[in-house]
Amino acid sequence: MRYCSVASGSNGNCHYIESGEYRILVDLGLSARQIEDGLKSVGIDPASINGIFVTHEHSDHIRGIGVWARRYKVPILATAGTWKGMERSLGPVSGELAVTIRTGKGYRLGDMRIEAFSIYHDANEPVGYCFESGGRKIAVMTDTGMVTSDMKHRLMDCDLAVVESNHDVDMLMHGRYPWPLKKRIRSNLGHLSNEDCGSILAEVFVENARGTFLLGHLSEENNRPELAMETVQTILEERLGERKDSVFLTKRGAPTDMFTLP
Ligand SMILES: [Zn+2]
Ligand SMILES: [Zn+2]
Repeated sequence: MRYCSVASGSNGNCHYIESGEYRILVDLGLSARQIEDGLKSVGIDPASINGIFVTHEHSDHIRGIGVWARRYKVPILATAGTWKGMERSLGPVSGELAVTIRTGKGYRLGDMRIEAFSIYHDANEPVGYCFESGGRKIAVMTDTGMVTSDMKHRLMDCDLAVVESNHDVDMLMHGRYPWPLKKRIRSNLGHLSNEDCGSILAEVFVENARGTFLLGHLSEENNRPELAMETVQTILEERLGERKDSVFLTKRGAPTDMFTLP
């Protein structure tokens, strides 16, 4: 399996996952053009994408989907609640390309098994995803205000996962966002902070020393990449006695390196 974060951050999200002949995207939260450019820059032909899995209807996750579906005629897979929330902003998408999925049910694409699981976010029916192939697992888990033990176990089971590290709590609380928005971000239906992410990874690493983790969905207003990494690594050092070189940053509006799972 291969993974690349095509773009990650509060301004737009897109993940690329490949297994054998099959190539999929999770979310398409920038313009179709920006995603095409991002994919080409890591050597992927946009026309080779087989399907798009959607996490939820917020614009930083769906911006380019309508154009992409019409241009490449690939299926869009989302929960019923997400379809309801995004239908109008996508524009016309022909019926056979609009696929409704359910949590807790496995889907097959070639040798890849895909499962959606519930996350905690202020959207209709938001989900994260697990992808499994040949004994390897990849998970995408951002835009969640909390992480249950079931979600932690998914991370403990993964070879590679993207985990949200949205904001620095001090930057958010002392920043210029209005109070209701600060409250929303900090709530159980908001976003995980750098501190939350560090604590979760500290628990996960105890059970899963082999895992590679990417810090995702960083806020432009309330975070900085080096601060997110430093906060997470400081917590890992305190709890585990060492920093981890298997933690990486995603990038805003730009692709990471391609990660290959042997
Ligand atoms: Zn969201
Ligand atoms: Zn988001």
